[in-house]
Amino acid sequence: MSVKSTKLPDGEVRGACPLDCPDGCAWIVHVDDGRPVALRGNPDHPYTRGALCAKVSRYLEHTRAPDRLLHPLRRTGVKGDGSFERVSWDEALGTIAERLGEDRARFGGESIWPFQGTGTLGYLQGIVGGSGARLWNVLGTSEHVPSICAAAGSEGLRYAIGTDRAMDPEDFAASRIILLWGTNTLTTGHHLWKFISAARQEGAHIVAIDPLRTRTADRADQHIAPLPGTDAALALGLAHVVVHEGGADTAFLECKTVGWPEFSQSLERFHPAAVAAITGLEEELIIDLGRRIARTRPMAVRATMGLQRHAGGGMTLRAITALCAVTGDFALHGGGVAYSTSGYFGGNRTALMRPDLRRLPARKLLMTRLADALDDLDDPPIRSLVIFGANPAVSNPDTARVRRALSRPDLFTVVIEQFATDTTRYADIVLPSTMQTEHVDVHDGYGHLYVAYNAPAAEPAGECLPHTEIFRRLAARMHLEEPALQASDDELLADLLASDDPSLDGITLETLRRDGWAKLNLPRPFIPFADGFPTPSGRFEFASEVAAAGRQPRLIGYTPPAEAARSAAALADGDEQLALIATASHFFMNSMFANHPGLRAKQGPPTVGLHPLDAASRHLDDGQDIEVRNARGSFIARLAVDDRTRPGVAMTTKGFWRALDGGAGSINDTVPERDTDLGGGPVYHDNLVTVEAA
Ligand code: SF4
Repeated sequence: MSVKSTKLPDGEVRGACPLDCPDGCAWIVHVDDGRPVALRGNPDHPYTRGALCAKVSRYLEHTRAPDRLLHPLRRTGVKGDGSFERVSWDEALGTIAERLGEDRARFGGESIWPFQGTGTLGYLQGIVGGSGARLWNVLGTSEHVPSICAAAGSEGLRYAIGTDRAMDPEDFAASRIILLWGTNTLTTGHHLWKFISAARQEGAHIVAIDPLRTRTADRADQHIAPLPGTDAALALGLAHVVVHEGGADTAFLECKTVGWPEFSQSLERFHPAAVAAITGLEEELIIDLGRRIARTRPMAVRATMGLQRHAGGGMTLRAITALCAVTGDFALHGGGVAYSTSGYFGGNRTALMRPDLRRLPARKLLMTRLADALDDLDDPPIRSLVIFGANPAVSNPDTARVRRALSRPDLFTVVIEQFATDTTRYADIVLPSTMQTEHVDVHDGYGHLYVAYNAPAAEPAGECLPHTEIFRRLAARMHLEEPALQASDDELLADLLASDDPSLDGITLETLRRDGWAKLNLPRPFIPFADGFPTPSGRFEFASEVAAAGRQPRLIGYTPPAEAARSAAALADGDEQLALIATASHFFMNSMFANHPGLRAKQGPPTVGLHPLDAASRHLDDGQDIEVRNARGSFIARLAVDDRTRPGVAMTTKGFWRALDGGAGSINDTVPERDTDLGGGPVYHDNLVTVEAA
C-alpha cells in the first residue's frame, strides 16, 4: 500500500467523485462554519493528482442549485406533466410500503423492479455495491441487470482473456505505441493523458481511432476514422499485416494461446483491401499502421465503452485482444488492453449485498429493455418500479417508447433523485436523495487501481436522505424484521472490507478514513497475465468453447453492426442514410449536469455534426435547424458542418433533457431497444437516420 501524509488542515474533508467516470478522482472539500465552500482535487492522489474535470469543478454549486429536490413529492397531475405536491417522509414511505406490499402479496416479489443506474458508483449509495440489494433480496424482486454500460465488451473479453480487466492504465507510460480506440480520453478520462504524455516523451506514437476527430484525436500523432462498428475488421486487418510483416510473437502464440492455427488461417480473409472496403479507410493507411505495430513493442490499447454499443460490440473487444495476442503484448509490461479495472478491488460484495437473503431465484431484467419489459411482461407484470441513480426517460434506448411505457396507468413508480428530471415527471412518488458531499461512501475506479473513502462534509440539503437510509426506513415501514436490513453505513462498510483478498492487505476502514485513499496491493511490475489467463484453457483463446456453447462464434472474427454497417461503396453511391453516434459531452456526465445553467451554456444547444460532403449533398447549411429521424423517432438539432465528422456519419452529444429543450424529441428516441451480440448491452451507435431541414 502506498504511504502519504494523512493529516489535513482543520475544515478540510477528504472525499471522492462518485460519477460514472473511470478516473475516480479523490477530492478535498473545504468546510467553513459547517458549510462546504470549496472543492478541489486531492493533489496527493497519484492517479488524479489534484485535477478535477470541467463538470465536477462545479459540483458544489450543483449541490446548492435552486432546482435541487429537497422534499418528498406526490404526483397530482397526469404522468408526464410534472405536477407534484410536497408530502412528508412518513406519507411517502407509507404509500410506497403499502403498494410494494400489495404487489408482492398479489403478484409476487418479481412484480417489483429496482431499477438502478450509474448516477453514483459507490459501494453504499451506488451501483457497484448494488445499493439496496439486501432489501431487494428479502422482497424477492426481479433482479436488475445494469446492462447499459460495458456489458458486451466485458463478455467479449471474458471469452478471450477470461476476465474483463487487464492492464493498469498507469503502465501506459511504459508503452511505445498507444491505440486510443473509440475513446475521447481528454473528455471521458483525462487523467490517463499524463501517462500517455510520459510515454510520448520516450518516443511513443499515439493513434486515435475514432469516426470523429475529437479533442483527443487533435492531440494524437495520428487519427484514423473507420466507419462506426467496423473496428473488429480493422483489428483483424492490422493483425493480418503484422503477421505478413513478421511481427507475430510465435513463442507467445505457441505457448500461451489456443486456436492460433485456425485463427491465423482466418486472418487471410482480412487483407488490407478487404478491410478498407469494410471500414471506409485507405488501404495504405491500414498497411502503414500494421507495419508500425509489427515493429513496435510494447503496445497498449485503451478501449472504452462506446466502441461496443452495436450489434458486434462483444466481438469487437475479442478482436482487439486478438491483435494484442498476435503481437505478444499481453506478456509485456506496458502492453495489452485497458478496458476496465473494475474487479481488482477485492471487497466482499457477497457480505455487503447478501444474496443469501433471497429465498428463490428471480428473473433477471436488462435495464436497457425497459420499454419491452413494461409493455410485455405478464408473468408477473411489472407493477412497481423503484428508479434510483437513473434517468431512463433520457438515457435509455428508444425513449419515446420508454416514456409511453412509464405512463402506464397501473404502474406505480418511485423515483429517488437529486433533481426533477425527465424521469421524475412519470413518478407517483419522488424521494429526494443526498449528493456526494452529504453522505459516506467507498469507491474504487474503473480506470485505476485505487480505493477511496468519501467522508460527508455537510449536512444533507433539505430533507434529503442517503439511499442507504431510505432503504432502511422503507424496510422498517414494510415491517421486514431481517436485522441485516437495518445495518448502519459503518456496518455495511465493515462487511465490504471483511475480505482476505490480497488486494486489500493493509487496507481497512480505519486506514481509508485516515488516509482518504489507498492503492490496491497488486504485484509490481503489474503484468496481469504473466502466469496465464483465467480462461478454461489457461491460455489466450482465439477459439472459445465457452463462446461456442453459448451459440456465439467459436473463433474470433468480425460481427458487423445490424444497421450502421454500410460498405464504402454504398456510401460512394450516395446512400441517404447516416450512422448516428452520440458522444459524451465535455460538460455533462451522461444526463447529469444538463440542468446546470453554466455547463449547459458551455455545451450549447443539441447539435448534429456532418461532414461538408454530406451536408452539401442534402443542401444543408451550417447553423440551420435540422430534423434527424428514423422509423423509431426524431429530434431537432442545430447543424454543425465541419470535417470533424467523417463522411457517412452524423455526430451528436448525449445527455440533453427533453423537458429543457421544449419537448423537441430526444436523441435516444431514434435508438432501437435491441441487444448487442454479447451481454445484452444497448446499441446506441448502431442507428441509421436521415437528416433534413427542420
Ligand atoms: S467525473 Fe471523472 S474526471 Fe471528473 S471529477 Fe469525477 S472522476 Fe474526476
